[in-house]
Amino acid sequence: LQFEQLPSQEESTTKKKTTYIAITSGKGGVGKSTVTANLAVALARLGKKVGIIDADIYGPSIPHIFEMKKEGFQLASNNKIYPPKAFDIPVISTEFFLEDDQPLMWRGPMLNRMLNHFFNDVEWDENLDFMLIDLPPGTGDVAIDIQKLIPEAYVIVVTTPHPTASHIAVKSGYMAQTLKHQILGVVENMSYYPNPVNQAHEAIFGSGGGEIVANALKVDLLATLPIGQPQNNLSHSIFTPTEDIGVAYLGLANKVLKALK
Ligand code: ADP
Repeated sequence: LQFEQLPSQEESTTKKKTTYIAITSGKGGVGKSTVTANLAVALARLGKKVGIIDADIYGPSIPHIFEMKKEGFQLASNNKIYPPKAFDIPVISTEFFLEDDQPLMWRGPMLNRMLNHFFNDVEWDENLDFMLIDLPPGTGDVAIDIQKLIPEAYVIVVTTPHPTASHIAVKSGYMAQTLKHQILGVVENMSYYPNPVNQAHEAIFGSGGGEIVANALKVDLLATLPIGQPQNNLSHSIFTPTEDIGVAYLGLANKVLKALK
């Protein structure tokens, strides 16, 4: 397969260096996309410029999480497309290129081309501090493509607290390590239910999964995020800083910044 080249080191010396972080999980439904969107918002709240590439081609959900409407793209003078923004975060997603509710039935090379377009034919702000990439769950072609496009990308593994599900998350971490990506750490999502009556943290989905994955991959457990949807008026899946979940996401963003120092 042919890959177009990203700008060379010389070309990019005047630009700020963007840190790429791919978010992966062993299986779907663990909250990988929710974590990607909220981590982006949290990093933005800490003053960072963040973009998102929704490369979860089979179940692109970032536009839904941000409640983005499908609109035509604005074209830049070089004919690249401007990525639509939500919460001041530029987002590009396969979802923008699909008919409503149509499944994606492409083969590998098409997907590879799509990813190339996301990097090369989108007018990204060249001063982005972070680009978060929402990967499809599991260990597939897209992860390999990302490795070829951005070998320097870091990885965060998202998992749930139930120990029986952890081996599959560990596999996606091993895949990242095999591809020579540095894993920044593990995020355990849906870790506990914060009981509103007595403030107890109830481990209704089990416990220990995040730690098992972190230990197996020899990385840190960066966050344990509570069960519950954010209660704000803006968007049903994006936190406000005053909520417990907002505090947890800001903590995660701070840990990410620290891990990169
Ligand atoms: P994935 O990207 O891993 O498939 P999503 O981010 O799409 O997962 O989340 C799957 C579902 O779980 C969504 O309906 C989402 O709103 C919900 N969800 C995610 N995280 C939490 C959480 N901490 N508490 C409650 N529901 C959550």
